[in-house]
Amino acid sequence: MTVPTDLYAVIGHPVAHSRSPAIHAAFAAATGQALRYERVQAPLDGFAQTLADFAEQGGRGCNVTVPFKFEAFEAAAERSERAELAGAVNTLKRDGDRWLADNTDGVGLVRDIVTNAGVPLAGQRVLLIGAGGAGAGVLGPLLTEGPVQLVLANRSLDKAQALTAGHAALARRHGVDLLASGLEAPGTGFDVVLNATASSLGGGEIPVPATVLRPGALALDLMYGPAARPFLAWAARHGAIGRDGLGMLVEQAAESFAWWRGVRPPTAGVLATLRAEVDATQGH
Ligand code: NDP
Repeated sequence: MTVPTDLYAVIGHPVAHSRSPAIHAAFAAATGQALRYERVQAPLDGFAQTLADFAEQGGRGCNVTVPFKFEAFEAAAERSERAELAGAVNTLKRDGDRWLADNTDGVGLVRDIVTNAGVPLAGQRVLLIGAGGAGAGVLGPLLTEGPVQLVLANRSLDKAQALTAGHAALARRHGVDLLASGLEAPGTGFDVVLNATASSLGGGEIPVPATVLRPGALALDLMYGPAARPFLAWAARHGAIGRDGLGMLVEQAAESFAWWRGVRPPTAGVLATLRAEVDATQGH
C-alpha cells in the first residue's frame, strides 16, 4: 500500500531554474512531512487554467512566481492583509474548493535581514529600490518593523507614488516617514539599501548613486547567483556590507511551508547547502 503524499508546486514562466522544489524537499525531510513539490510551467496566457488543473490533480498549495503574482491575487477567494496591501500573491493554499492567498516575500526578507544578518530595521533609514511585484510585496512587512524613514525609489515615479499612497496608513501606524522618489536623487547615507529592481537580471547599471550608502550600510540585492554579483561588488567598493537574496528565498519558502503544514521548518542548514551550491556554480 502506498502512503498518499500531498502535492505542492511552484507555478511560473520560466520555472526550470527554480530552487523551490529542493528547498521544500529539504524542509519536508527535516520536519518529517510527507509531500511532493513540483515545478509547473504555465503558458503565459494560461495561469488560471494551469491552477485549475493543479487543483483537479489534488494540489494542496503552490508558490507563484514571475509573471503570475498578480493573476494569483485575482484567483484567490480570500487574501491575507499583507497580500491585499501588496496587490500580489506568492503563496496559495487550497481550502475546500477555493484558494486562500498570502504574500510571504516581505516577511522572508525581514527575517533574513533581522534574524539571519542580525541587522535591525527599527529606527533605521531604509531605501527600497523597485516598485514592481517584489517591491510591492516587501513594503508592508518592512514598514511594520518601524524604520524611522523608508524611501521607495523607482524608475517610474508614478508606480512608487501609488504604492506609498496605498501604504500611507500602515506607515503612520508604525511611525514611519514614507516617501516616494525617482532614482536620481533618492537621498543619501541610508542604513539599509534594498535592490528590488530587475536591473541586475539584464546585467544593468546599479540604478542609484553610491551616495545612498552610509559607511557600513547593509546593501541587499533580492537577486542571487551571478546576477547579484555586480551589486555586491558595488556595495563592497563603497564600504557597504553586501548580501544577496538567497536568505530571503529560503525564509519566504519557510513561511509558506509553515502556513501549509502547520510546522515551521529550520532554515539555517538549507541556506548553507544552497549557498554552497550557488557558490559552486559561480566557480568559487
Ligand atoms: P517586476 O518586473 O515586477 O518589477 C521590475 C522592477 O525593476 C520595477 O520596479 C522596474 O521599474 C525595475 N527595473 C527594471 N529594469 C530596470 C532598470 N534597468 N533600471 C532601473 N529599474 C529597473 O519584477 P519583480 O519585482 O517581480 O522582481 C524584481 C527582482 O526581485 C527580480 O530580480 C527577482 O528575481 C527578485 N526577487 C527575489 C525574490 C527572492 O526570494 N530572493 C523574491 C521575489 C523577487 P519600472 O517600474 O520603472 O519599470
